[in-house]
Amino acid sequence: MNDESCNFDCDVLIVGGGLVGASLAIALDGSGLRVVQVEAVAPQINPHANPDERSLALARASVNALEALGVWPTIAAKTTPIRRVHVSRRGEFGTVRLDAAEHGLDAFGATCPARELGNGLLMRLDRCANLVRHAPARLTAIESEGDGVVATLASGDGEKRLRTRLLVGADGTASFVRDALGIGADKFDYAQTAFVATVQPERALDGCAYERFTSTGPVALLPLADRRAGVVMTVPSADAARVAALDDAGFIAELHERVGYRLGRFSRLGKRVSHPLARVIAQRVVAPRAVLVGNAAQTIHPIGAQGFNLGLRDALTLAELLLGRARTGDDVGDAALLQHYVELRREDRDGTAATSDSLARWTASEALPLKALRSLSLIAIDRVAPLKQAIVARGMGFRGHAPALALREGT
Ligand SMILES: Cc1cc2nc3c(=O)[nH]c(=O)nc-3n(C[C@H](O)[C@H](O)[C@H](O)COP(=O)(O)OP(=O)(O)OC[C@H]3O[C@@H](n4cnc5c(N)ncnc54)[C@H](O)[C@@H]3O)c2cc1C
Repeated sequence: MNDESCNFDCDVLIVGGGLVGASLAIALDGSGLRVVQVEAVAPQINPHANPDERSLALARASVNALEALGVWPTIAAKTTPIRRVHVSRRGEFGTVRLDAAEHGLDAFGATCPARELGNGLLMRLDRCANLVRHAPARLTAIESEGDGVVATLASGDGEKRLRTRLLVGADGTASFVRDALGIGADKFDYAQTAFVATVQPERALDGCAYERFTSTGPVALLPLADRRAGVVMTVPSADAARVAALDDAGFIAELHERVGYRLGRFSRLGKRVSHPLARVIAQRVVAPRAVLVGNAAQTIHPIGAQGFNLGLRDALTLAELLLGRARTGDDVGDAALLQHYVELRREDRDGTAATSDSLARWTASEALPLKALRSLSLIAIDRVAPLKQAIVARGMGFRGHAPALALREGT
């Protein structure tokens, strides 16, 4: 950096220390850049394993990246490999079966309790050499000033102003940064609510993830440790209060009605948590000296289990560009870098968001011509090898420009 650096408190200010903001801070560790992170909630490593908690399906690209970032060793023992995927539609013929071994792979990815991933990221953040963290502290205002941005942070100690070359909004679906930059967002309410829980199936999932489409929304069953299964059951929001009020036996009966008895009877239902589902897509992901990543840039339907995976690829691509600038000493927040970021992310961002959205709508429709087309499509995907291969590659997180950290296969 030139002499002017002394006018800046940091090179990169990351707003948000959720899964994506934390991953970005870790990816920039050792870059020589002065990185500051601000997170509204006090960081807390939660050591208490809880069989009822939410799990994430991590794509192969994310597993590779978490290995390269030094997070995987901490969480590996808590993860379960996804070796097979089974996709079907209730009441229709046609099934897609994907087997990692047929594609020369040991696994397509892995499931991991979200709490364990959060803990692993926090532990790795603690080892970052040059990262300054403000938490709990909240970004409350930003203003553009010359070739930087001045951010106001509020915490129990009062207010603080920081001047940065680049502001990163990793502050989630209701992003303050996005609003403060005047970036609009296209919002769509799916009128669906996802119930997340765990169950004990009579027959183990044995590394197989099930996605079952129904007219009331998709249901996913994810393989977890100790023969348990993670459930994401989507229902119309108009029906959510009724489902929430069901007792355990009633909820299990609803689940069986949607997925059948292929895995035998379900028992030992864990705690249920509900999430209303909406799509929120930022109309732009960059502004002068600012960029949005993760849910702040795009919040998508969980049908393809891609939200964090996509946000992680945002973070890795941005880190790759910033590390390049750190090596040459050039400006980390100029328009050329931001435009390059937009171009590198376009295909993955647009494609993944569009796939999740059309899957969510297309698989729920009961229109007769669509039902026939859908069954034929499932059969075609199952039988046409190149189609299957393309879906596998996308599902594993390799669409468009793949960041180098996501390509590095594990140890
Ligand atoms: C039911 C369900 C199932 C899902 N399953 C999967 C899955 O299997 N696989 C997958 O990849 N994804 C999945 N997702 C999506 C995934 O959970 C999200 O995409 C991901 O957690 C988003 O992370 P983030 O860091 O971008 O945002 P967040 O987790 O929302 O983090 C934002 C952070 O910013 C902080 N913040 C906000 N405002 C401020 C401020 N003004 N100042 C300072 N800090 C601030 C917040 O405290 C928060 O910590 C699922 C989502 C749902 C709803």
